[in-house]
Parts: sequence; C-alpha cells; structure tokens
Amino acid sequence: MCGFVGIIGSDAVANSVMLGLHALQHRGQDAAGLGTVDSGSFHMVKDLGMVSTAVASAATFPGRGGIGHVRYPTSGSTSTREDAQPFLTRRPGILLAHNGNVTNVPELTRSLRAKGLHVLSQCDAEPILLVLAEALTAIRPSGHTSDDVRRAVAEVFATVKGAYSVVALLEVDGQDTLIAFRDPHAIRPGVYAQRADGMWIVASESVALDVLAAGDAHNEVRHLPAGALLLLRAGEPEVRIDIAPRQTHHCVFERIYFARPDSTMEEGRVLSTRWKLGRAVAKIIEERRIEVDVVVAVPDTSRPAAMAIAEALGADNREGFIKNRYSGRTFIMPDDAARNAALRLKLNPIAEIFRGKKVLLVDDSIVRGNTMRRIVRMVRRLEPTELHLAIFSPPVAHPCFYGIDIPSEAELVAARMGRDELAAHLEADSLTYLDEAGLAAVFGPDICAACFTGRYPVKVTAQERADIMSDRRP
Ligand code: SF4
Repeated sequence: MCGFVGIIGSDAVANSVMLGLHALQHRGQDAAGLGTVDSGSFHMVKDLGMVSTAVASAATFPGRGGIGHVRYPTSGSTSTREDAQPFLTRRPGILLAHNGNVTNVPELTRSLRAKGLHVLSQCDAEPILLVLAEALTAIRPSGHTSDDVRRAVAEVFATVKGAYSVVALLEVDGQDTLIAFRDPHAIRPGVYAQRADGMWIVASESVALDVLAAGDAHNEVRHLPAGALLLLRAGEPEVRIDIAPRQTHHCVFERIYFARPDSTMEEGRVLSTRWKLGRAVAKIIEERRIEVDVVVAVPDTSRPAAMAIAEALGADNREGFIKNRYSGRTFIMPDDAARNAALRLKLNPIAEIFRGKKVLLVDDSIVRGNTMRRIVRMVRRLEPTELHLAIFSPPVAHPCFYGIDIPSEAELVAARMGRDELAAHLEADSLTYLDEAGLAAVFGPDICAACFTGRYPVKVTAQERADIMSDRRP
C-alpha cells in the first residue's frame, strides 16, 4: 500500500505536493519521493524515511507540475532508495508513481527485456512506466498527442494485470500534462479535483485534496474512473477518455482499515462507513444475546464502529486504551516478554474502565491473531468479569495480491480456526465477526472482498501467486 499526489498548476507546486504527501503519510512510512517538471526539465529526490526528512530538499524545486509518493512496500525488497517512487524515463520524459500491486511483473519484465528494456528496480511502478514509455515511442519518438497517450494507456490496460492507480507527468500536445489512470476494476482508490485557481490535484485519498483546499464545498471531489484516462492541464477542463472499464471492485479493506476516517470513498465518508459496519456487527451481537456493560475500541480505526455498537446495544462507550503516538514501529522482538512490553508501550490500558465489567473490545480485523491475544491477556489482568470481542469485518482467510500486505493462508489464523475455536485461542469469552451479508449490505456488489471470500476479481495464476508470495517482505 502506498500513497501519491500529482499536481499541475500555474506556479511552482513542490511545496503543495509536499503538503499533500504529509496528509498521506499513514499510507507509507518506508520511503518517500518527489519530482517536478519545469518546461521539460525534471527534478527529483527520493529517499528512505518519512516525508519530513526524505523529500525536504525538494521544497525549492521549480516546476508547475509535480508528483510525490509515500511507500509501504508489498512487493520488492523491504526498502531501498532505488525502489522508492516516482520513477522517471528519459525517452520520452515521463515521471510516474502508482499505488497498488501488479500481479504479472515477471511476465512484463521478460517481455520488456525482449525489446531491449531492462527493469532495474524491484518496484512494480517501473514496469508500468516502461510499458507506457515503450508504447509511446513505438507510435513516435517525441511530440506525442492525446491520442498517442490514449493508445499507450490502452496497451497498459491490455498487458499490466492487477490493481493500480497511476499518476504521471509528460509533454502531450506540446504542453506539460498531468495524466491519471486507474485499473479497469478500480481496485485501489484515487481522487481528483480542480481548485478555484485552476490547479488540478490527483491523490490516493481525499484528505490530500482537503489540505490543498481542493476538496471543499465549491470544488467537487471526483473518483478516478475505472479503466479510463484523464488528461489534466492547469486552468483547463479535464479530458476524460474511457478505454477499458469493467465492473468496479473497490478494495473493502481500504474502508475498514487503511484509509483515514476523514477521507471520502465512492460510497461516502470512511468515518460513516465504519459506523455502519459497527451497526451491522451489533445486530449479530444482539442475535447472539451477548450482554456487555462497556464497549472499548482498540485504537484508532475502530472508534466509529465501537460508538455505533455501544449505541445499538445500550452500553457505555469508553476510551480504554491510551495509544503512544511516539512508539513507532514494533520491531521484531526476541522473546515474548519483550513483545508484551512493546505492546504495553504502544497501548496502555486504563484499569478502571475494565475492572469488574462485562467488556466488549472492538477491532477492525484479525490477521495473525498474535496482537489480539496479547491485548486480551493484558486486559484479563485488569479483572473484567467477561471479555468479548467484536470484529467489524468477516474473518481474513485469504491473502491479498492487489497491494495490501495480507500474508499467506498459512499465517492467517482465521484460515485455520472457526469462530469459537479462535475465541478460545484468543482467550476471549466470545468472538463476533461481521458476516458477508453485513458487508454486502453496507457496500453493495461493487467491492473486492477477496481476502474474506477468496473470490478474486482479477484472476491470479498459480505461478503469479507463487511469485508474489516469494517476493513479500518477511
Ligand atoms: S483482497 Fe482484500 S485487501 Fe486485497 S484488494 Fe481485495 S479487499 Fe482489498
């Protein structure tokens, strides 16, 4: 999972790109990059680390077009500077970044090599860029028109498989142009808007448009259309060319876990979606006749769902954990005691919220189950009379091949255990999941929910699965 911002305006945009990237920092903390184009000259910096350090030197870059990216690798090495985005080609000059996961990278790499083009990094943005650049140069070496770009993006849609939302800067019809396209099923998110001063902004989430005052009441936030190309120039209306749209399958996990609650997706505000998911799971808790005194969210994503559940059950909703914002990543810990200490550093429970009460803990999902078991044990020491769990998604039982780091079935605890067995394994009195019907009631049919259902909207061959899993970070 990653995040990008692309801007084309009438003045230098580097600082605006940087601001947008700060709003998307939650989508990737391993590396960041920022490039601009200034009358055909490119300027770029990328490095490991957070936006504030990795791209600080880009603040003075000239150029009315810019692209920034934050990286959380789900393919390629854990992180090297070379794998950070954006990527740049010299012929023709294209600066490009994407979010998603290409599922046929080895096949693309072989076919590009046969044409004399070598993929140098382990990042799947590079093959997308090379397919695009090769298709453009096959039409003509320079002086590309909008129709050339349409044909080249059609070639990307025909050959690049998987999930990808892409933003790129190049010269089209003699002008610096920001283009954006999203895979035919629109799996990963992407939004765009035009500011009152004519500036166009494309980003992974609408919060980046908000900080740049492009997502307010006067400037409609639009979602990148499936299988379509957008050509954007400052002060001009958008040019949209539909190329290969299919039925949309937006990633439901973005809504449940990754996206910021203040972002807007196709179905509305993420905050309100999580609230609806909470209402849906509360119905199941009621049907199971589980009675609780207090509902406590495992911070941060679960708060709206916990509020909705408490309201529906007529129970108290309390903050039971204080999250340490400065604890950073939990590094690989050598033993159990160290892992418990790391969790306590990150999440400190408030004893009086739990003691002597029938408690319902709410979380977004259970992946490996290790963290949830530690949380349950930590809360048990505070002597609640009962400890129940509510998860506002169905059991995660299948890996993701489209850009979210969900591991193989072997590591997914819900792939091995049924609900009650898992409740016992987690040392909880009960476990309630949202069911598939609840998910469908909130989202309708236009979603990808393959990590819950095993029904993948873009076919992934056995060889592609094996390649992707072997490429995953440990
Ligand atoms: S498999 Fe799950 S995480 Fe991956 S795109 Fe589909 S819903 Fe999202």
